[in-house]
Amino acid sequence: RKAAFAALRDVPPVTKDGHRVTLMVNAGLRDDVAALDVTGADGIGLFRTEFQFLVSATLPQRERQQRLYREVLDAAGTRPVIFRTVDIGGDKALPYLNKKDADEENPAMGWRALRLALDRDGLMKVQARALIEAAAGRTLNVMFPMVSEAWEFAEAKALFEAQRVWLDARGRRPPLAIRYGAMLEVPALAEQLDLLLPDIDFLSVGTNDLTQFLFAADRANPRLAERYDWLSPSILRFLSRVIGPCRDAGVDLGVCGEMGGRPVEAMALIGLGIDRLSITPAAIGPIKAMVRSLDHGAVQRFVAELIARPPRDMRGALTEWAAQHGV
Ligand code: PEP
Ligand code: MG
Repeated sequence: RKAAFAALRDVPPVTKDGHRVTLMVNAGLRDDVAALDVTGADGIGLFRTEFQFLVSATLPQRERQQRLYREVLDAAGTRPVIFRTVDIGGDKALPYLNKKDADEENPAMGWRALRLALDRDGLMKVQARALIEAAAGRTLNVMFPMVSEAWEFAEAKALFEAQRVWLDARGRRPPLAIRYGAMLEVPALAEQLDLLLPDIDFLSVGTNDLTQFLFAADRANPRLAERYDWLSPSILRFLSRVIGPCRDAGVDLGVCGEMGGRPVEAMALIGLGIDRLSITPAAIGPIKAMVRSLDHGAVQRFVAELIARPPRDMRGALTEWAAQHGV
């Protein structure tokens, strides 16, 4: 099967009825970029910039950050890379970052990601300059983690734009364009889509955190790991309500959590109308094979019926449909 997946490297993820899906990889380290050529993916849909911070003994300075971002962009060539600004705090604590309340009781819901970055904006200014300079002459895609309210996105974007102006004034070669996106992983943000969508270029659903917050179930607790299914009507209905507004606003919607890397889950997402998945590199082959065996129109009709009248065993129903339809 591995050889069969490797043979799919150069064929596009297109359904039997001609619907093109975008399959990208999640990455975080310089060497992860090799996965693009190995898998034939369409780009990097989530580059977790905090990895460089987590593997470093000291805070990475601007030059080091910039070098990494430039190497990643060079290696990706014409394929897009979505850089996520640092998602630290929570389970990803940094010893050298003097967190004044490092002993939070609920770190996943604590002072992390964009919350920390907006408070300690020196950190994000440095990262913004590193990203903007690294993307000189190219398109920069930047995405903010753990956005809970639209104003947080607006503040983060304004901070980046101020750095762009600052670098411009110093005669640095600017990026061709900067595309801004938000992660949808805190359910509260879904209630502010009308405020957010006019300002963003893309939205990426982080199903790992979204599931944790939607079900109030710690993603790191093995006791709960089997309890809530990604195919639950709650998740599928939640996602289905996001799709229309994004489409109407011309905002590119994708999923970058682990859910998209599982064939039955990915089939359900595509059935809902999500056309861009960013997944772990090892999943590209299996997901591409699934996409190529799928009838897009048929799966969309089936998933619409399922979420309108969910059976008790959603996973069983989807798995059985897949088997009956040669997926
Ligand atoms: C997510 O939450 O789904 C996600 C993609 O981000 P991370 O796993 O890095 O929190
Ligand atoms: Mg997350």
